[in-house]
Amino acid sequence: MLQIDHLTVRYGDHTAVDDVHLRAEDGEVLCILGPSGCGKSTLLRAVAGLVHPTAGEIHLDGRALDGLRPDQRRVGLMFQDHALFPHRTVADNVGFGPRMQGLSRSDIAARVEESLALVDLAGTDVRDVTSLSGGEQQRVALARAIAAQPGLLMLDEPLGSLDRALRDRLLTDLPPLLRSLGTTVVYVTHDQDEALALADRIAVMQAGQIAQVGEPDELWQAPRTEFVARFLGLDPILDATVHDGVATTAVGRLPLPDQPDGPTRIALLLHALRLVDDLQPVRPDEVAISGRVIARRFAGDHLRVAVRTDRDVELAVPVWRGRGPVAGDEVTVALATAAVHPLQDTTPQ
Ligand code: ADP
Ligand code: MG
Repeated sequence: MLQIDHLTVRYGDHTAVDDVHLRAEDGEVLCILGPSGCGKSTLLRAVAGLVHPTAGEIHLDGRALDGLRPDQRRVGLMFQDHALFPHRTVADNVGFGPRMQGLSRSDIAARVEESLALVDLAGTDVRDVTSLSGGEQQRVALARAIAAQPGLLMLDEPLGSLDRALRDRLLTDLPPLLRSLGTTVVYVTHDQDEALALADRIAVMQAGQIAQVGEPDELWQAPRTEFVARFLGLDPILDATVHDGVATTAVGRLPLPDQPDGPTRIALLLHALRLVDDLQPVRPDEVAISGRVIARRFAGDHLRVAVRTDRDVELAVPVWRGRGPVAGDEVTVALATAAVHPLQDTTPQ
């Protein structure tokens, strides 16, 4: 188990990590999700012992890490630019950790074989890593991190440099692989799809701080702040005034039975929106919003239709069947009222 308390890292007068508290449970995959520059890599580097914290404590399995050299921490870190040893064999690369640990030749070979099997690269031991494709090199880097059998495996944007097809493939392969290790994993990314696909829990990071921690579904259903909502792709975010369990908003009156009276802000979930047509009229648990189509975008398996409502709110509505409306068409959008979420912290960001 990883426990981070009051961790602060400054570079000169810039605070890259600002009083962070975070726990990762045994065997958990914890994703740290945040935009570029928010301090994700610095946080990992502090845990790995590659930068010195200005303040705070880090414990791994109850053991304080401060004062330990990087190689004494039993922490594996894989970077985006995976930094394999070029023109060395796959086995040389993957066997690096076990060699440093002083294992016997046969134990090193066993670890290499086992790790390569996990990343689906069995039999590539003797190949020069430079002769492998980008995706294969990425998997060798992962096997190298795994082979050292760290108590904590940290992956820093491991799919960041891959093309989309490869990324999608690894995104499918990675979750079962990471869970089969049984190791605690901290996975850093700026991509919400990656985080939602992989994580047991997600910690959203903003300007050096943790904005919210929760299970993917929990965050998606109840984003605490506007920043978290937007970063997860929830849009739009609207002002609302609640009175007796009903919110008055620019898209109409929405039931919010548990919300106290007063001003608040709400996030609309994209999957709560659909176009109304004769076959599927507005249901009792939906609110109808009228507007005009201003744009449409092909998104592969569906169409994304931008609708401007009568009160100037722009809604992105997915259309899954049929040819969909075109720019200029008057449409009615149905919003499922159960999927309207008040933000806990309503400070505009
Ligand atoms: P992320 O990984 O989320 O993109 P980083 O941890 O790399 O963010 O960086 C956080 C902030 O710290 C950024 O503003 C970055 O410019 C700054 N920073 C990172 N490394 C250094 C460094 N070695 N010296 C000075 N500033 C740094
Ligand atoms: Mg980074």
